[in-house]
Amino acid sequence: MKKVIIVGAGPAGVLLAHYLLRRGTQYKIEIYERRSDLQKVSLANSRTIPYGINDRGLRALRKIEGLEAAVKATCVENHGSIIYQKNKILENRSKRKYSFNTDRTSILIALLSQLTDKSDKKVEIHYDCKCTSVDFESKTLRFEKVQETVPEQTEKFTVDYDLLIGADGARSIVRTHLLNTEFFEFQQEYAYACYKTVFLLSNKEKTSKNLKANYLNIWRIEEGITFGIVPQLDDKFIGILFFPQKTNKVVNLSTKEEVMAFFQQNLPEVVPLISEEEAEAFLKRPIGTQLRTRCDRYHYGDSVLILGDAAHAVSSSLGQGCNNAFEDVLIFDSLLDEYSDQWATAL
Ligand SMILES: Cc1cc2nc3c(=O)[nH]c(=O)nc-3n(C[C@H](O)[C@H](O)[C@H](O)COP(=O)(O)OP(=O)(O)OC[C@H]3O[C@@H](n4cnc5c(N)ncnc54)[C@H](O)[C@@H]3O)c2cc1C
Repeated sequence: MKKVIIVGAGPAGVLLAHYLLRRGTQYKIEIYERRSDLQKVSLANSRTIPYGINDRGLRALRKIEGLEAAVKATCVENHGSIIYQKNKILENRSKRKYSFNTDRTSILIALLSQLTDKSDKKVEIHYDCKCTSVDFESKTLRFEKVQETVPEQTEKFTVDYDLLIGADGARSIVRTHLLNTEFFEFQQEYAYACYKTVFLLSNKEKTSKNLKANYLNIWRIEEGITFGIVPQLDDKFIGILFFPQKTNKVVNLSTKEEVMAFFQQNLPEVVPLISEEEAEAFLKRPIGTQLRTRCDRYHYGDSVLILGDAAHAVSSSLGQGCNNAFEDVLIFDSLLDEYSDQWATAL
């Protein structure tokens, strides 16, 4: 039996665990995730982001029984987008083929609960474990686990592997170690836009006539500042504000009154959907930054592979990163089929 260590319980890592599990008893699968179990954290504190899932991602889910339905149960259909400027509709883009809106945490909870149901504890998931280094020659990883009782103290431990998957996102530690291997070429750049999410109240209670429940509602506020509202289940919405890295009126907001005044001035139709607590939480939420990366290969020898954002992060404006991550798993699975689980050849 081969011991597979997956670093990262994001979309790529968790879907890969499903696929490897499906290949029978030849793999012992362990996932290590630096954050806490999302199933135990509230949505607003889970650092979630709204996602559009399209057929590219759904095709990969479809191969595992029950997954497409479980993910779709977290989604609302997306019929297109409406773009506004100063309260006027600039453009109405309807889709011929609908995609689906949800958020990262809801997708992961769906994937994780299906994994727990199916794996009968065959897949071990270790939360709050941050990978700090990898040694490709001795095939070992070092981790730090935060002690719940004494958060300032960390437990350090080593894990060995036969096969290592870096599914640890755009700032992948596994990929960092690939940089030290011969002829590995890598590029990264920051996307122009940073972002912050806003959790909006249900439109049922606070009717805001402009918000269409099956459309992305997008406002162009001014040069470089855009606000998008992504409908979620139960008439809820997650908003996402994009703004440039350099000093601007979003970065400078420093009290909840200033947050409300910003929305009042720029997005009056959204104000009834923002609670005072949310204005406070918005202020405290860290600013998200985005990386774009390229690698000239995705593996090392016959035992290390990077997938998803660790291999190729793209700008969120494409709405493809999670779909790509799912597709990576589908493609890798078809290579394992083609080469009868001979990793040296499949990689
Ligand atoms: C604002 C925004 C909007 C987006 N919208 C869309 C969209 O509409 N559609 C779409 O398809 N994509 C979208 N994306 C892209 C999507 O978020 C990513 O492409 C997707 O999450 C990639 O999945 P992943 O599993 O490869 O990486 P991640 O989701 O980044 O998961 C990596 C996991 O690894 C863990 N990890 C990292 N380092 C370590 C470590 N050292 N040790 C242990 N664990 C570690 C992380 O905590 C994380 O859980 C959006 C992104 C942003 C920022």
